[in-house]
Amino acid sequence: MDFKDFELIYKENRCEIKDKQKVVLKLKEILGDSNVSTEEIDILAYTKDTSLIAFNWALQGQIAGLPDIITWPETVEQICEILKFANQKKIPVIPYGEGSGVVGGSIPIRGGIIVDMKKFNKILEINNENLIVTAQTGINGMNLERYLNKKGYTAGHIPQSLYFSSLGGWISHRAAGQFSTKYGKIEDIILSMEVVLPQGEIIDFKTTPRASTGPQFDKLFIGGSGTLGIVTKATLRIWPAPEKRTLLSYAFSSIEDSFNATRQILRENVYPAVIRIYDQFETIRHFPDIDNAKDKVMVVFVCEGNAKLVDLEEIITREKCEKNSGVDCGVHPVEHWFDTRFKVTETSSMPTYKIVVDTIEVASLWDNASNVYHSVLDSVKKLEGVIMITAHVSHFYPNGVGIYFTFGGAPGKEQTDLEFYQKCWDTTIKAVLKAGGSIAHHHGIGINRSHWMESEWGRSIKTLREIKQLLDPQNILNPGKVYVDTWKRGEK
Ligand SMILES: Cc1cc2nc3c(=O)[nH]c(=O)nc-3n(C[C@H](O)[C@H](O)[C@H](O)COP(=O)(O)OP(=O)(O)OC[C@H]3O[C@@H](n4cnc5c(N)ncnc54)[C@H](O)[C@@H]3O)c2cc1C
Repeated sequence: MDFKDFELIYKENRCEIKDKQKVVLKLKEILGDSNVSTEEIDILAYTKDTSLIAFNWALQGQIAGLPDIITWPETVEQICEILKFANQKKIPVIPYGEGSGVVGGSIPIRGGIIVDMKKFNKILEINNENLIVTAQTGINGMNLERYLNKKGYTAGHIPQSLYFSSLGGWISHRAAGQFSTKYGKIEDIILSMEVVLPQGEIIDFKTTPRASTGPQFDKLFIGGSGTLGIVTKATLRIWPAPEKRTLLSYAFSSIEDSFNATRQILRENVYPAVIRIYDQFETIRHFPDIDNAKDKVMVVFVCEGNAKLVDLEEIITREKCEKNSGVDCGVHPVEHWFDTRFKVTETSSMPTYKIVVDTIEVASLWDNASNVYHSVLDSVKKLEGVIMITAHVSHFYPNGVGIYFTFGGAPGKEQTDLEFYQKCWDTTIKAVLKAGGSIAHHHGIGINRSHWMESEWGRSIKTLREIKQLLDPQNILNPGKVYVDTWKRGEK
């Protein structure tokens, strides 16, 4: 295979490694021969993440980024050595979980060394009294949850990508699972971490239920897209497996009615584990056979936990839905959701029809939620080539929501897939910011959102950049992400 036959998407600022053979030899000295590869088949496997646009590129003989060397460290000390050596040689290092990220976080846009965390897959300790588990961060999400379930617990973190994402990836993108309304996002679940800093120093944080020991420095390493450190170990909160689960669904005449009902439930301090609002377009797509939901907005609920509390949650949930003219649709829509919740073939098959499709999740306080929803739909549907723009709302707080948009369309004759994709992204984010929302709820920043960081963070971005500079003066850890404008963007 010759990589010259592929068109490389991210080629600007790509670093060339001098004396590559010597670098490979040194890495083999650190890691052992079998944990270092420059085989073409391995290089190819790490050229992209699961950004949907990368499927369009693959079908057209294009690759996103081109790494030079792949490594699979087995100890924290090996990671330290890799980083120290990479600093000496000024070689980019890209942490890699399972590549399920959808914003380009693990794409090696400057080339360099991939540090695949797969061998950091051990569960180190579970403590029933404290309700905590400690695991290495390369562990596959499903393996962790399956282990906990067998012992009678759950971590409550069930992203749709559970089967193909890692604990380290969740931490790096500040992920959210389908049951987040009860159990929280990953930043609520993580109690402590061990991190290797960009220059190869190990730091760790004490596990404590809460503290008042100075700033929450540990939080700096949650959400950094792997640019501020490589997280090697984490302690998570866990919960006893739920005693009871109740499934409910209601259809509403408008998105506003569904917002009012769900907002009022949360105001009562009631947290159904799952709440999902499907706008009328997604309701048609997902629940075509539910008569009561025709032309309506479907909301599914899962209440779980202690049986007596679940019964109470059911009463309050029903009361608020009915007060807002919700029509009871029974358990079937929720069972259907359970059956299909990990199915993603619908979107991932679109690129084969030359359709460019993607999802963009954002956050909003309640008083802007309806505005954010309508503003995005109104502005994206006006774009040339857009075939669909729909939304569901899947993460709920007493103060607001996470809204998840899906767009699809065909680029015009003069437009590349990337240009069309960027136009849809930029239009969405611009509408969100104008409506007072926040640009990302759980997929992280990576490449796709880096050029919106200034708008999102305002004057604080300067300090964040200074922290990056302080921790990583040579900018070797996942360069080109989060803090810099990586997109060749058209109109701002
Ligand atoms: C079909 C589908 C469904 C999805 N559903 C959800 C969902 O429900 N909720 C959700 O939040 N996300 C979801 N995602 C997005 C994705 O699964 C998450 O972003 C996930 O957290 C990425 O994990 P990963 O292990 O695959 O990380 P990767 O994609 O390998 O890496 C992501 C980022 O983390 C960095 N990184 C990885 N490991 C480490 C480490 N140990 N230390 C430091 N940095 C590291 C990488 O450099 C990169 O910047 C979905 C994706 C797909 C394709």
